[in-house]
This record gives sequence, structure tokens and C-alpha cells, in this order.
Amino acid sequence: MKKLILLLSIVLLASCSDDNRNGKTLNTDNANQMFDQFKDAFIEDLWELYPGWASYMGYHKYDSVLVVPSDEYRQRELSFCSKFLDTLKTFDLLQLSPNNKIDHHLIREALVSIQWYVNEYRSYEWKPSYYNVAGGFEEILNNKYYELEDGLRIIYKRMANVPAYYANAKSNIKNPTIEHTDLAIRQNTGALSVFENMLTDSINKAKIGEHERQMIMARVDKTIETIKEYVSWLEDEIRPGLTPETAKDFRLGKELYDVKFVHDIQSGFTAEEIYNNALQQKKEIHQKMIGMSKDLWGKYMAKEPMPDDGLKVVRTIISKISLSHAHRDSLLDAIKAQIPELVDFVNKKQLMYMDPEKPLVVRETPLYMRGTGAGASVSSPGPYDKEANTYYNVTPLDDYTDEQAESYLREYNYYTLQILNIHEAIPGHYTQLIYSNQSPSIIKSIFGNGAMVEGWAVYTERMMLEEGYGNDEPELWLMYYKWFLRVACNTILDYSVHVLGMTEEEAMKLLMEEAFQEETEAGGKWRRVKLTQVQLCSYFAGFSEIYALREEVKQKSGDSFNLKEFHEKFLSYGSAPVKYIRELMND
Ligand code: ZN
Ligand code: ZN
Repeated sequence: MKKLILLLSIVLLASCSDDNRNGKTLNTDNANQMFDQFKDAFIEDLWELYPGWASYMGYHKYDSVLVVPSDEYRQRELSFCSKFLDTLKTFDLLQLSPNNKIDHHLIREALVSIQWYVNEYRSYEWKPSYYNVAGGFEEILNNKYYELEDGLRIIYKRMANVPAYYANAKSNIKNPTIEHTDLAIRQNTGALSVFENMLTDSINKAKIGEHERQMIMARVDKTIETIKEYVSWLEDEIRPGLTPETAKDFRLGKELYDVKFVHDIQSGFTAEEIYNNALQQKKEIHQKMIGMSKDLWGKYMAKEPMPDDGLKVVRTIISKISLSHAHRDSLLDAIKAQIPELVDFVNKKQLMYMDPEKPLVVRETPLYMRGTGAGASVSSPGPYDKEANTYYNVTPLDDYTDEQAESYLREYNYYTLQILNIHEAIPGHYTQLIYSNQSPSIIKSIFGNGAMVEGWAVYTERMMLEEGYGNDEPELWLMYYKWFLRVACNTILDYSVHVLGMTEEEAMKLLMEEAFQEETEAGGKWRRVKLTQVQLCSYFAGFSEIYALREEVKQKSGDSFNLKEFHEKFLSYGSAPVKYIRELMND
């Protein structure tokens, strides 16, 4: 549910600047000590309230609890927020260390955000896909924390609430969107494989007595039955009554969108400012791409006359370059082979320290995670669970016809695949998350900022090419700009669809004509923008802020600027919002 990606942060030399001021020192130490105690109490209560989130973070005390999404539970959430917001007010920000000050901001913003999600956003009423129990069970089954038998006993207890969970889901759902209803049907159907296959296999392997086996199996059967009932309820009773005219619009509208942007992105800019910035970038990138494509025309299209329309020149050259791609069955292998090359480059160029001990596992995306239109993602261990595997999930093209697969593979061609691997793995998400997990600031780990995380991954694409990855090959640069254009267009698309009412036809036109995407990719993005809001902006918003910060530090440091130092310092604060990292780096 709250699959916040993790993070962490570094010790900030608490309050050393105050050391020489008599009197103040004592107060400050005292305030910081009290704040540390407050944080401990806050986190303990947080995990009791959100056991599933705790489990993802690697905190396993409440693993056996499946929260039932009832009215009463939401009241508990709200009292939790008001209680801790009140306590936060008792701290004097001026007495807190820089690190604690930022933790104070993060906790406050998180609590206000929870209140807003419960009171205003209310996705429990219109988003049937919000309800899905598979992830939490799969997490317990796959983490290395438990012996198989102990894990199964936890799972046994946890399954007790599955019927109540789905009963509340049914009574909560009031005005679902068509899109989230269809997704719920698909993902909950996918969830069955966790219980029918994965869990059943584990039970057969476990060293447990026959009686216990039967008890566990009885609950597995009940869980499977309950999920199937939820799916048929959606299919038979909910879905037929939903028409585009009468169902809730998946478009969020300006009022909710602007506030969600503030809560989710935590940027120094408003949604509208980021949108306008993206429009401007699109124009500039088009000019760059047109220049490069004209230079490449002779190499690929020598016999043909060059069209007058610049975007047409770009599209032609891109389609030629895109022909160089992996086979549909060897995509996973192509990705696996790339990873060591990226590691070598980062080490050779001294771009940042990379811990050779942390494994990255490339695997097929688990079934219950599929269906949102994302082709690749990283799932990583939480701050309490640093030794667990980091997964690079690649969705196989099984569902695709040959034609669809060809279209997808051209989109993720030889050049683009390298940029994808930089983004997802080295030195993008995977590397950032390792740094994140080394930080002792658990608050920054818990409230990881998506825009910082995505912004970093997007930043590393540009940075690697600037540092000479791929030997300045013009094809790679052109495909990079196409990829970056996608990032800018994600923002334009998200804002246009949810705030300005952009239609499917207009969206496809933007993505295919102005962002040069293949139809499969554009169609997938259209599905995604119907299912999520604001998240698609996080890439561009985060990138813009990180790149600007680096240029600023570079300017200030002059000849003494060291890229490796900048990266390691930037990453050391964990996945805090960039506006706060900027504050800490300037201190
Ligand atoms: Zn082909
Ligand atoms: Zn990403």
C-alpha cells in the first residue's frame, strides 16, 4: 500500500556550531535529546499503526497484523496525526540541530499529508485497486528475516483478517473509477498466484506437522476464496454499472491536484511552475534534437531528401536507430550483461564510491505488481533490513503480440536500454538506495521523497553522458534526449490530463508526435496517467532541482569542485526532499 522507497541520511554534527556559547549549549543539547526521544516514540506508534509499511521498511514486530481498512481505523489514523502534530509544536525549531530540524519538517509534513489523504483524497472510496493483500504476504515469504516455518506461522496469523479486510473494502467503495476497478480485478487476480503457488509450495516444503499444515492450508483456502469473491464482486456487481458518463472521472481536477503535488513532491515549486518549466524544456530539447538529427541524416538516409519539417527529420532518424534492439526473449539477459559495464565506468571515472558487497538481483516482475504500465522497477530493502536483496524487476513481454513486442523493443532499443539501466540500476536507483540505507536518520528513510529518488535517477543519465559514457556517440545522445523529453512530457501529460482535461487523442498526439514514442509506449503511459496522479511529475521536478543545485555548488566552489564529493555528499542525506538537502549542503 505505502510502498515508499527507502532512504536514509547521515549524521550531521549536531549542534557543534553552538558549542562555544555558554548556556545555549545545554538548552540545545537538551532540546535535541528530547527530540530524539520524541522521534523514537513517534516511530514506535507509526509502525503499530502501519504494520504493512513497517514490514516493507524491514521492521518486523507487527508482521502478523493485517490492518482492516475500517472507519474506526481511519479515526485511529487521524488521532495519531493530531496527537503528534500537537507534540511537534512544543519544540523550538531554533534549538534543533540542522538534521533534527529537517526531521521535524518531514514528520510534520507527513502527518498533514496523512490527514489530507484520509479526509480529502479518500481513495478508499473510489480506488478498488487500493485493496490487495498479496504484497505483504509475499514480503514475509521472501524476506530473509524468518526461517521458513516461522514465516509461515506469521502468515497464518496474518491471514485471519483477510475476510474482514475485503468485507471493509466492499463497504468502503462508493464511487469507483472504471480504471481502478479494472486494475483491481487484474491485480487481485494476479495476487492469487502468491497464495495458490508461492505459498502452497512453501507449505509443502516446510518442516511442520500434519495438523499445523492443515490449519495453515485451511486459511490459505479461505484467503483464496475471499480474493476470488472480491474479484467476482467487482466483475459482476460493480463493473457493469460503470459507464464513462456516470462513473467517477479518473481526472483529479485542479483543486486536489495542486495539494497532492505539494504533499507528494515537496518541491520548492508549484505544480503550475513545474508544468511551465517542462513546456519550455520541451521546446529547447526539440531544437537540440533537430540539430543532431540533421547531422546524422547523411549516415542513415543518404539517398533520401531531407524533409523541411524538423520534427520529421528527428522521427526518421530515431526510427532508424531504434531498429537496433534485443530479441523479445533475451531482454532480461541483455540487461544482466550491461550491469558490470556500468559499474566499471563509475569506478574508472571516480563518480562515486560503490559498495561491491551489495547484490543487485535482476528478475522478472512478480505477477501481482504487473499491470500498471511500468516496464522496469527497483524493489529494495528497508533501513532495518539492509542485508536483504535489491531486485531489478523487468516485466517479460509474454502478454504482447509479436507486433506489440517489436514496438516495445524499438522503444527500449540498444541505446535506450543503456539509459534505462543507468536510471534503474547503476548509478541510479540501486546506487542511491544503498547510500540511503547507510544513513542513521531513520526519519529520512521512512519519509523518502519520491521526487528526490526519481530526480536522482534522471540526473545520473545526464551526468553519465556528460562524463563520456558511450564515447559521445551522437546516436546515444539523441536517444538520451528522446528519453529526457519523455520525462518532460510526463509532467506535461500529467498536469494536462488531470488539471486541464486533456483527452486520450490529444495525449497520444503529444506522446507520439512531440515525444517520438512508439504506440505501445504511449498507450502504456496513457493507462498509467489514468491510474496515478502527480507521480509522473516527480522525475522532472526532482531532476530540475538536483541539476540546478549541482550547477550552483560548482559555480561556488570554482576549481575546487569535485564531482565525486558532490555526489557522495548529496546522497549522504538520504532521500530527503531536495529543498532540504540544499539547506543542509549550504550549512
Ligand atoms: Zn525489430
Ligand atoms: Zn525511476
